[in-house]
Amino acid sequence: MIFIMFGAPASGKGTHSANLSNALNIPCISTGDMLRAEEAKDSPIWRIAQSCMSQGKLVPDWSVLSLVCNRIAEQDCNNGFILDGFPRTKEQKEALDGMLSAIGKKVTAVIQLDVTQEELEARNQSRAAEARGNGKPTRPDDDPEVFKKRLVTYGEWTAPVLDLYRSEGTKIKVINANGKKADTAHSVNEAATSVGATLKAPTVENLESVRELGSRVDKPKDLWML
Ligand code: AMP
Repeated sequence: MIFIMFGAPASGKGTHSANLSNALNIPCISTGDMLRAEEAKDSPIWRIAQSCMSQGKLVPDWSVLSLVCNRIAEQDCNNGFILDGFPRTKEQKEALDGMLSAIGKKVTAVIQLDVTQEELEARNQSRAAEARGNGKPTRPDDDPEVFKKRLVTYGEWTAPVLDLYRSEGTKIKVINANGKKADTAHSVNEAATSVGATLKAPTVENLESVRELGSRVDKPKDLWML
């Protein structure tokens, strides 16, 4: 199964791709993370990406395409994967179509995280405040001015990609992602199962956390009488 997690900056793509990846036991491919990982190598891709990212612009298509192409060819992607933050342009979508048809696969569904503009801006501010509060560096592209530019870039280049998927009949699951993370995660899992995905069996850790929750539920004092 191949899912595309689609949404504006700060809509929760990273969080919900990771959750779904865990729930379905398939890898999550985040182009943003792959680009940031290039920093340690100080690669030519990073030198170009750094300047684009810090201005709220997209990095050139060729740089993400080479990263995605190599990643999809890895063995752990055989049973499917989740794309987080890719494709972001019409050209990237067309290249993805080509890569997938070469291996006889298709996108199963696009999961669109729908979040209002006010909520996106509020999340960006709280993400930066939280990082500062924890003494961690803020992402340079989370600067309020750069973030505004990222929203514009999203509207101009990326939102139209959704129309392309819609017009060719790919399933699009729209999730209201304005609320709590847990509610959105639940809706995302439901969306995935509605198109045929199977959630992996609960792990021992999951079962233990369910038991732990159960032990915290207030029980009637006279339970022994039952
Ligand atoms: P993200 O972590 O997905 O929010 O991405 C952070 C930044 O990395 C974006 O604002 C872009 O500058 C760049 N980026 C990530 N993915 C792509 C992509 N598929 N195409 C172009 N630029 C990207």
